[in-house]
Amino acid sequence: MSGLLTTPIEYLKGVGPKRGAVLREEAGIQNFGDLLFYFPFRYIDRSKFHLITQIPEIVGAVQLKGKIIGGKEVGSGRGKRFEAKFRDESGTIDLVWFKGIKWIKPKLSVGTEIIVWGKAKQYGSKYNISHPELEFITPNQPLEKGLQPVYHSGEKLQKAGFNSRGIERLLKELLPAIRNQITEDLPDWIRNDLGLIGKEIAINNIHQPPSHTAAKNAQFRLKFQELFYLQLELLVRKQITQRKIKGFRFEGIGTPFSTFFDEHIPFELTGAQKRVIREIRKDLSSGVHMNRLLQGDVGSGKTLVALMVMLIAIGNGYQACIMAPTAILANQHFISISEMLSKMNIKVELLIGATKKSKRKILHHQLEQGEIDILVGTHALLEDVVRYKNLGLAIIDEQHRFGVAQRSKLWKKNLLPPHQLVMTATPIPRTLALTFYGDLDVSVIDELPPGRKEIQTSHRYESARLKVFQFMEDEIKKGRQVYIVYPLIDESEKLDYQNLMSGYESITRRFPLPNYKVSIVHGKMNPEDKEHEMQQFAQGKTQIMVATTVIEVGVNVPNASVMIIESAEKFGLSQLHQLRGRVGRGGEQSFCILMSSYKLGENAKKRLETMCETNDGFKISEVDLKLRGPGDIMGTQQSGLLNLKISDLAKDAQIVQLAREKAKDLLDKDIKFELKEHAYLAKKLRSLIQSKPNWSRIS
Ligand code: ADP
Ligand code: MG
Repeated sequence: MSGLLTTPIEYLKGVGPKRGAVLREEAGIQNFGDLLFYFPFRYIDRSKFHLITQIPEIVGAVQLKGKIIGGKEVGSGRGKRFEAKFRDESGTIDLVWFKGIKWIKPKLSVGTEIIVWGKAKQYGSKYNISHPELEFITPNQPLEKGLQPVYHSGEKLQKAGFNSRGIERLLKELLPAIRNQITEDLPDWIRNDLGLIGKEIAINNIHQPPSHTAAKNAQFRLKFQELFYLQLELLVRKQITQRKIKGFRFEGIGTPFSTFFDEHIPFELTGAQKRVIREIRKDLSSGVHMNRLLQGDVGSGKTLVALMVMLIAIGNGYQACIMAPTAILANQHFISISEMLSKMNIKVELLIGATKKSKRKILHHQLEQGEIDILVGTHALLEDVVRYKNLGLAIIDEQHRFGVAQRSKLWKKNLLPPHQLVMTATPIPRTLALTFYGDLDVSVIDELPPGRKEIQTSHRYESARLKVFQFMEDEIKKGRQVYIVYPLIDESEKLDYQNLMSGYESITRRFPLPNYKVSIVHGKMNPEDKEHEMQQFAQGKTQIMVATTVIEVGVNVPNASVMIIESAEKFGLSQLHQLRGRVGRGGEQSFCILMSSYKLGENAKKRLETMCETNDGFKISEVDLKLRGPGDIMGTQQSGLLNLKISDLAKDAQIVQLAREKAKDLLDKDIKFELKEHAYLAKKLRSLIQSKPNWSRIS
């Protein structure tokens, strides 16, 4: 950065020490350069205003011009609000404030002329706009035409004179002064390939766009630049870690793999399963430590992939383990893996919290002696007493259920860290995967085994309860099984627990013995009872399973064809998708019924609609990203990454992709940054990498 750009913000004309402090505190603007990168989040088009009478036809936000004709405070306590009457040439509408009333009320005296921007909402036959953005019009002064930038501002900034207009004035001061001071930081070949405008023009035009197109081009250039640096950083980090961490070299696929593949595999692998196994196999033979994320929608057959990869490890003289988040799931893996390997001479064992002490002792001993080839289990695998003779591969199923610290424990189970494969059925939108796991390798199973029928999903209210029961009965008569899931987010929630139990009672009344048998599983039961109930259902001895979300992940009962989710509005999208994934695992047509109350918020409505519209986990994850934002989805520990100034991971997926491709091109071209045109980039990248810890490593 040139000297001028690092000049403290106080020195800009019209700022000074006091107001400078406010800019630092409230907007993170320390110096001139920061101000340049304080971008407007939208523009006001001064040539276009809506009329109040047009509001019913407008979908998004409206921009109105008119004056205040009255105002009053309504309600009291938490329901207190300020309603201002606003009139334009066509009609009147209420503007409403629930917060900051003291501050806004005196500004909106009768006769005040303003421009209003916001989304109108309908209440009965009337519309109002709550917390609109306002701009005060100075009487007798002609309105400026053209695009006017709108900047984020808060109460403290506004008090210091930095409302959006105030920030705009600062930039008017600064922009002419920095002419020829901004260094271009994208190489010419990338700019030419993508037709990107120069950095200096982009910065000028984003603040003072001569046209909509100019604003768009400026945004695109700046978003690309931001994401490009991020992707380049991730790719370079990946190279550094790979160089540093050596891994076991699994030379060949080995006999167990070939024998299994030729003689015992229960079905033909899907194309996607084959491709993923090839990708993993390549890692394992490279001599570099594998740290790979395997994403595959529910039911895509990740377990079989896991098994076959473990066979490669065994064929090379190593042990393997697979860790699942719940005992139910670990047990299920244990059973299915043991079954698939029953005709082969491979020793598979199970270790969970409930494993008896005496059995444990034997297991520990056999592991150290190398007598066990595959260990399946839960967190119990992580205990220090669990030691292997030669652990070569660790697989983690449903990774989103484990914390980072837990995962890293697996690394210490051998001298060299075992290869690691992390599997998840919670699809992460591709943009997020590229960004958060950008220094990891990601494999995707994007194909379901043949013959699966789309699950039919519908949304029903309580009034349809009897019909739903009838439907259950019909399906059970056909020999199918039914899940009914209740929300029990926090096991200590008394109310949820009561709902579950009264639900269970009404089910047993409607579906009585001896014709029907109902299982129940919830978190308050002890592990043996849970396991017993689960097995009863899995073996078809009971027809209905009433449960909490303990069955959310991984459970596989192919004969179950109906999933009923109670109070579905209380669940998040990825959870709903996971739950639905418990059915549709066999050849039968399966159904998912989302029960909800009549009172639904906007987001809840959107979630239920999305579920009814699609079965595609990746599409669902994209909607989830838009509803919740990247921070919520990925958890907060990685939020450093969300420090994006202009890009929005939920909206700019294509630019992320493009940035990734170009970053790769660059490394292909000049991996050591030796070309002169890349010198500036190399310098900037180095400082980025040194200034941040390695946050995105998964283990
Ligand atoms: P997930 O990816 O959700 O863990 P699973 O591994 O539990 O999925 O597999 C779901 C179901 O699909 C299981 O019943 C499994 O036996 C079956 N399955 C896996 N691979 C195939 C395949 N290639 N062809 C047919 N069925 C398969
Ligand atoms: Mg699974």
